[in-house]
Amino acid sequence: MCTQKDSAQFTHSESIDKLSKLAKKYAYSAPGYFAYPTFADSHNAQNVNAAELIYASRQESASIYIHIPFCRTLCFHCGCHEEVAQDRREAVEYIDRLIDEMVIYKPLLYNKRIERVHLGGGCPNFLSEHLIVKLISALYNHFTLTCDTVFSLEVDPLTTTAGQIVLFSKCGFSRISVGVQDFHDNVQRVINKVQSKEQIRSVIDTASAYGFNSINIDLFYGLPLQTVESVTENLQAAVAMDISRVTVTKYEHRPAIFPAQRELDKYPFPEENEQLMMFCNTKNFLQHHGYHLIGGDHFVLERDPLFLAVKEKRLLRNFLGYDIAYSADVLGLGVSSISHFAGSYFQNTQRRVDYYRATEQKKSPVAKVAIADRREKVTWSVIHNLLCYKQVDLQNVLTASHYQHHFQRELALLHDFEEDGLINITGSHFDVTNDGDIFLRNICSVFDVRTTNKQNFCRFSSAI
Ligand code: SF4
Repeated sequence: MCTQKDSAQFTHSESIDKLSKLAKKYAYSAPGYFAYPTFADSHNAQNVNAAELIYASRQESASIYIHIPFCRTLCFHCGCHEEVAQDRREAVEYIDRLIDEMVIYKPLLYNKRIERVHLGGGCPNFLSEHLIVKLISALYNHFTLTCDTVFSLEVDPLTTTAGQIVLFSKCGFSRISVGVQDFHDNVQRVINKVQSKEQIRSVIDTASAYGFNSINIDLFYGLPLQTVESVTENLQAAVAMDISRVTVTKYEHRPAIFPAQRELDKYPFPEENEQLMMFCNTKNFLQHHGYHLIGGDHFVLERDPLFLAVKEKRLLRNFLGYDIAYSADVLGLGVSSISHFAGSYFQNTQRRVDYYRATEQKKSPVAKVAIADRREKVTWSVIHNLLCYKQVDLQNVLTASHYQHHFQRELALLHDFEEDGLINITGSHFDVTNDGDIFLRNICSVFDVRTTNKQNFCRFSSAI
């Protein structure tokens, strides 16, 4: 339980008042930045020449993302591309088509070492043990995986068995992310994800016993029925599980895009001010317990590989969130997966039937593409630095001395943030202050040329 002492220790009313005023000032919409151009700028495309985009990259290595779309039940808050399925046999054909897709990309990536493999979804633990082994074997057969390749995955604690965790460990997986969202019964019932603390604990203890060196719990704040105290209780429960990483994301309510989220409209959401307090308490609480904030929502202990990645400057921001690799190139396999090469990216069709048809005929299932031009690559470099390290030297990004001319519009806008104490500027270098953490998306949006047209931004959720 959250004690009175805990609340007093972690809540500072003056700073909340100050941030609350600033939150009103900067309460405009902005994209979540995972790439630039942003995903909203990608367009439908047929006959995308994936080979040309892949060959545009000179990187010697790449990562692979595999999307497993199946889930046993639908969580109402879900913003992922998932399909509800009860029968595990649904995945049998899916794995065959994934292997067909590997065949398409095998000749294009034959000279690239695979640094990372990540299974996401949906629920990768929907796969039977036989299919897990078949999938991993196929990866070894089609791509250059080495003993240094790092394997990670996301799991749903409600449906993950100890046997699966042991098998994933034997297949080389060492990083795991557990979808919890909230530990309380009332909130779990609202979002239709009812799971006991014991179920969550069992997954984490098994992963820990079988050598996973990074264990993450995903939590949300801003869900219906949550209170400032209940969010702190979630953090206490997570910290008590001795995990190396906690991701605490603000829930984004977008029922027009994700219709299941309409179910949440039946219940009261926390007020904006309460949500602000939830974020501030989260940050103070987790920092007090030794966690470091990366970006706006990842909290890591120093033993977590993500912490080392920040020190070694090899942190990446991409459609998977934060990642660790030398190369930013990612090959996405499966329905809706996004591939990223040399700054441009392309997405597979979201319809399983179309994905099956294309891959069976050994044709690319790509349906959307966004090609980055030179200027957009510079923009992404700035935003990427801010998201990963909360600082950037504009002169270094351009490797030229004309940064003041190139970023004239942006430098003028940044002064407002400086006056509000959200960034410090020294010459061409600026960094985000402690108060600026929650405004990170706003600060990034300064470099997004679409900010000149605020109407364009209405389609995105609030930046704070
Ligand atoms: S388990 Fe994850 S992907 Fe599946 S419905 Fe729930 S939130 Fe969405």
